[in-house]
Amino acid sequence: MAGKMCPKCGQYTFFAQPFGRECTKCGYRMVLPVNEGRGGKGQRCPNCGKQQVFDGTCRNCGARFYEK
Ligand SMILES: [Zn+2]
Ligand SMILES: [Zn+2]
Repeated sequence: MAGKMCPKCGQYTFFAQPFGRECTKCGYRMVLPVNEGRGGKGQRCPNCGKQQVFDGTCRNCGARFYEK
């Protein structure tokens, strides 16, 4: 299974890891935020269908989700 191209060494050894991706050749790491911070994927919004729900609010359509 080929990985993605490593932005540092250019080899296709940039594999997905629980924290993001890591190059098995040069050790270069890319860390992705988990459901928080910009750039991360939120949960899927049942109203508009986009994965833009962060902290209980959909950034795409503005729907709010909370428990009573
Ligand atoms: Zn690399
Ligand atoms: Zn939405």
